[in-house]
Amino acid sequence: MFCYQCEQTYRSEEGAGCASAKGMCGKDAATADLQDILLHVCEGIGQYLTRARALSATDAEADRFILFAFFTTLTNVNFNAAKFVQLIQEAAQIRDRARALYEKAARDAAKLPETLHGPAAFVPAADMNGLLAQAGEAAVRKDAAILGDDVVGLRALVLYGLKGVCAYAHHARVLGEERDAIYAAVEHALDLLARNPKELGPLLDEALALGHANFAAMEALDAANTGAFGMPEPTNVRVTPIKGKAILVSGHDMKDLHAILEATKGTGVNVYTHGELLPAHSYPKLKAYPHLAGNYGGAWQDQQKEFAEFPGPIVMTSNCLIEPQPRYRGRIFTAGPVGWAGVRHIADEDFSQVVQAALALPGFTADAEEKRITVGFGRAAVLGVADKVIDAVKSGAIRHFFMIGGCDGAAPGRNYYSDFADATPDDTVILTLGCGKYRFNKHDFGTVGGLPRLLDMGQCNDAYSALVVATKLSEAFGVGVNELPLSLIVSWFEQKAAAVLLTLLALGVRNVRLGPTLPAFLTPALVDVLVGKFGVLPVGEAQADIDAALARAA
Ligand code: SF4
Ligand code: SF4
Repeated sequence: MFCYQCEQTYRSEEGAGCASAKGMCGKDAATADLQDILLHVCEGIGQYLTRARALSATDAEADRFILFAFFTTLTNVNFNAAKFVQLIQEAAQIRDRARALYEKAARDAAKLPETLHGPAAFVPAADMNGLLAQAGEAAVRKDAAILGDDVVGLRALVLYGLKGVCAYAHHARVLGEERDAIYAAVEHALDLLARNPKELGPLLDEALALGHANFAAMEALDAANTGAFGMPEPTNVRVTPIKGKAILVSGHDMKDLHAILEATKGTGVNVYTHGELLPAHSYPKLKAYPHLAGNYGGAWQDQQKEFAEFPGPIVMTSNCLIEPQPRYRGRIFTAGPVGWAGVRHIADEDFSQVVQAALALPGFTADAEEKRITVGFGRAAVLGVADKVIDAVKSGAIRHFFMIGGCDGAAPGRNYYSDFADATPDDTVILTLGCGKYRFNKHDFGTVGGLPRLLDMGQCNDAYSALVVATKLSEAFGVGVNELPLSLIVSWFEQKAAAVLLTLLALGVRNVRLGPTLPAFLTPALVDVLVGKFGVLPVGEAQADIDAALARAA
């Protein structure tokens, strides 16, 4: 195996990358290799679909499969090798269908279909051992010795950015929001990767095109969530448990949470959100369920301790899962793209066995001391007080906005983000989204200009909301986003964050602080490109970075 797609990748003096029997995340070598093969076959699907599309023939089912397949390969999503054997066989069948679609479209247009090579012609073996013997053909660094680390690193940026686009688009799709332009962009990127591109220029263009596609995916996801559950509104959420039977729902998937709330109606079982599902409490149609009792725990990297202490079943609806420990292995369930060998998987959105498990388990035996935080400052809530915000900026009451967003992780350098939030001056506002906020969202930041100083905008999936707010503020002030008194402090961990970064770059947002470390697949030359072209800055020391941001804005 070789994998260097996430921030926790193994690093040594020889370089970075998880290359032994198990990655730092717990992904074993067989699963990693099978994931590479699955993506390789998906590239073949993309080769046919992009040509079929040029002849006005499309296959939305195949596109949907690609989204799901890519999502399963994100960090901390699916560790079940047998599932990947099955997905590879399915992918090969879908690729054959895509070939037939393309050949028919060509015949109908009186054209000779091209004979495609590479992933389009790859024949996956029938069993796991055969597939593992083929893994070299699909390895992410297969051309490194010939083409060098820059080309391979930029290919990786495209591949990992594509993973993020697919994950967001899948989240939107399950709620019925699809955009054909996203499918066209996904197919285009797959086709490019299938051709083993050797030039940096087209790869950089493709990375930016994926940034635009990701903006569309996030817009679709915003439309999906708000369309299904209403506009998020500021909501006070209990973050301590109450007595009673309980289910914990983690991940990002509002649809699964809704299905669980329906399945538990009238049973007396309380439902708690965990991790990135905290913002669910601010959606009117979700918070209307009285048994959506509160939020339990913090970010994903603490789940092994927190899940062990939770007295009920746990449902992992999407990333980020880490190895289920014996103390809760028997009461954790996976859903959607998530999987772990031997852990029960809900494939059909029927959560009745989770409810049965909750009724059989003890639940919380007493109320904990009541504590609450406020969430729900999505675009509607922030723009609803836009006049107040603009007046406060004009009067000098608000000097600056810091958007501290993105993923959390276990690396020690991640204290940077809480140090940064704590050190922001009292006349500044902190906007936050993603699970990195768990490091500081229970701190008391007070108010400024009549607003809370900390405004929680939601999940990393809600980055669209943050971009809308930035765009509207720039319109109100008559300046570009880069001229606003706004700094972006992005913590990346995995491939959704890579996609969001590409979106920021594609939209021309400069001076993004990225950390806690730069991606291992970006070589020094590629980092120079990002710094020179887009002003991307590595995170430094919190106070110095705040001073620099305020000095730049002054
Ligand atoms: S996902 Fe991250 S930790 Fe896991 S194998 Fe890949 S680089 Fe290593
Ligand atoms: S913000 Fe990133 S690390 Fe955190 S739960 Fe979401 S996807 Fe995972």
